[in-house]
Amino acid sequence: MTGRMVEIPVTDDHMHLYKHLRLKALEEFRRAGGTHVFLVTLLSKHYGVFPKKGSDFREIFDAHVKLVEEANEIVKAYAVLGVHPAEITILGEKLGYERAAEIMKEGLELAGKYVEEGKAVAIKSGRPHYTVSEEVWRLSNEVMFHAFEVARDASCAIQLHTESYSRKGIEEIAELAKKAGIKLFRVVKHFAPPRVDEFEEVGIFPSVIAMGNNAIRAATLGDRFTLETDYIDDPERPGAVLGPKTVPKKVKELLRCGFSEELVFKVCKDNVEKVYGVEIEL
Ligand SMILES: [Zn+2]
Repeated sequence: MTGRMVEIPVTDDHMHLYKHLRLKALEEFRRAGGTHVFLVTLLSKHYGVFPKKGSDFREIFDAHVKLVEEANEIVKAYAVLGVHPAEITILGEKLGYERAAEIMKEGLELAGKYVEEGKAVAIKSGRPHYTVSEEVWRLSNEVMFHAFEVARDASCAIQLHTESYSRKGIEEIAELAKKAGIKLFRVVKHFAPPRVDEFEEVGIFPSVIAMGNNAIRAATLGDRFTLETDYIDDPERPGAVLGPKTVPKKVKELLRCGFSEELVFKVCKDNVEKVYGVEIEL
């Protein structure tokens, strides 16, 4: 008999399952050492749904909750339900941008209800990562603000998909979040760069995209972050953004490079527990 390895928590903070590997992606994640995962909804078009009212998101959320239940047979999985900020363009082109924003707000309210019912642990919102008109930018900020209010009322975390990182950008988002009355550590910048020191100063929580040396760079600057792959599971982009084994690999790399198990427990357990209000058990 060899000595039992100490079990290490390995959490991927933001992953999608669509139609490439589906649950097999989580089997790969588990085999590589992954233990916990946050599964996030995709755009409505990925579900073949064109929402004309907020309640049309129910079909998407129910499908996602069911998928997360199945995922839980493999690893511990949590549902994040969102209305992707790019819906403003998809819905707005057909229904008008004002109406699109209303539908998105209603969809987010519905997501908040699922959290209150215990079917999901967080919601997702944000604002477009591409250039939009002034009107669409204003409406997108209104939708995001409403999402902060929904998360505040449901006492849950909110993941944000936003424009590329800038200090000014996250400061502006932090101001909006404060105005809405949500605790800043519950506001997660998904696809964050490893500037964990700046995020700590501003208060928004970074979910660092585990590409290249990001995990090591983040760990060099502090321990207030989580790691994610943003795995999309799209057959047309099979390894994008990063493959499902990436976070386990990066955690092993951190340990190999001399970072402590304590750091890994902080990143993959304590931080996750604090932000999402879940218990990471091994
Ligand atoms: Zn994503």
